[in-house]
Amino acid sequence: MSKRDHAERRVLENNQETNLADQVLLEKVQAMVGREYGRVYAWDQVNAPMIRHWCEIMGIENPLYTDSNFARSQGYSDVVAPPGMLQVWCMGGLSPENFPAPSSQENNFEVLKVIDPYGYPAVVAVNSDLAFNRQIVAGERLYFTSKLDSVSEEKTTGLGTGFFVTVLMDYFSEKVDGNDEPVGQQLFRVFKFKPAHRADVKIEQKSASVIKRPLPGISDDTRFFWEGCDAGKLLIQRCTACQTLRHPPGPVCSECHSFDWDSVEASGKAQLYSFVVMHYPEVPPFNYPNPIGLIELEEGVRLIAGLVGVEPGTLQIGQRLQVEFHRFDEQQTLPQFRPVAG
Ligand code: ZN
Repeated sequence: MSKRDHAERRVLENNQETNLADQVLLEKVQAMVGREYGRVYAWDQVNAPMIRHWCEIMGIENPLYTDSNFARSQGYSDVVAPPGMLQVWCMGGLSPENFPAPSSQENNFEVLKVIDPYGYPAVVAVNSDLAFNRQIVAGERLYFTSKLDSVSEEKTTGLGTGFFVTVLMDYFSEKVDGNDEPVGQQLFRVFKFKPAHRADVKIEQKSASVIKRPLPGISDDTRFFWEGCDAGKLLIQRCTACQTLRHPPGPVCSECHSFDWDSVEASGKAQLYSFVVMHYPEVPPFNYPNPIGLIELEEGVRLIAGLVGVEPGTLQIGQRLQVEFHRFDEQQTLPQFRPVAG
């Protein structure tokens, strides 16, 4: 889960308030809690090619996952699957609910369909936690069973009003003798909700002014940057041994490993190297749509910053930008970038 997801989750959880929901709905839902759902099988045995692809995508280099000889030297019968792949093995593929026979046809999130017609059309995944019993090795065939673990009371969050629904999935390794072995567990929680109405959103925005932008973690290596922002200067760290510029700031030069550095003031002239536009979910105190750029300064280093004065639909890779500084919440000044002609 990313830092941003964590931040959103904190906002969600801090803003929860308990409300009264339709009594009939509550009874229906509570009657379903504890319901168990049958086996969903993996299409394939745990296998080396999928492990290798996953490691490549995740940037993981560990011979235990990719070198069967090394894995055998460590006491395993073949390469080990990274624990984080647990959920991967029993996924349906590109088509939803596409599982091999004799997988259960039941929907382990069927409670969402019960809640939906009571006026809660939206759903957002909130968190997913994995737990592991042991390493999983190539050649094993996995399946999982599920249980509806809990449905919260009705809560109001920044997104709207609804229910937190938690499903637990137990993963097993199939054995020839039938003594299948539990290997791990996944908790998956979603928020099933009615989005805040426009009138509610206005109230949200008032309370959003109370939620301030998260402050950066400031260390001895980064303080100069934030003090520069306060003074309206975009300062870039420079290695005094080899003159290499670097950002984000850090203690050591990646080129020559020198600890000696100073800083130079950037011109603020830049171009848009890449960007994203955040639309949803809308998390206070940010404005949406929220365009965020990966910005290449003319000095050659890149940084991530908010874009201002832009129509999100018209952003162009390579377009010229100029830094400007904006003060937020009377406690932090951030560099932001605005398109300029030419
Ligand atoms: Zn250096």
